[in-house]
Amino acid sequence: MRCPFCAAEETKVIDSRLVAEGDQVRRRRECLGCSERFTTYESAELLMPRVIKHNGVRQPFDGDKLRSGILRALEKRPVSIEKIEAVISQIKTAIQATGEREIKSMVIGERVMEQLRKLDHVAFVRFASVYRDFQDLNEFRAEIDRLSQESQTEDND
Ligand SMILES: [Zn+2]
Repeated sequence: MRCPFCAAEETKVIDSRLVAEGDQVRRRRECLGCSERFTTYESAELLMPRVIKHNGVRQPFDGDKLRSGILRALEKRPVSIEKIEAVISQIKTAIQATGEREIKSMVIGERVMEQLRKLDHVAFVRFASVYRDFQDLNEFRAEIDRLSQESQTEDND
């Protein structure tokens, strides 16, 4: 890390601590050339693939869009923000783990639905009805029937 004062290349770390709830490392550095001190922040750069939309247009991955879509589906549902954050982070990790440089928006949508199904059925149906093009009402109804059967089975456990 080059010194911003004298451009010497040798600096030493004199203090290092986690900040931003552990997502960043704050380092105090001292230049071995001029002895000036300065601070650097380091955080992991999560490389997300580019998103291929239905029309073939490529876009950078938009984490805010993912979050707002999920939050909208979960509006007024009894699900804690911790669980929601965990789900968002799981989805991002899964997308990264594909190792692909480009990913279809449809694949992301399916991931979200998969997670919402486990989290909250109402949110799942909300998201799916907006996101997935149900061919007709019967298909949509079949999905809901399947879900209510599943939740009955879970209740009996
Ligand atoms: Zn210096």
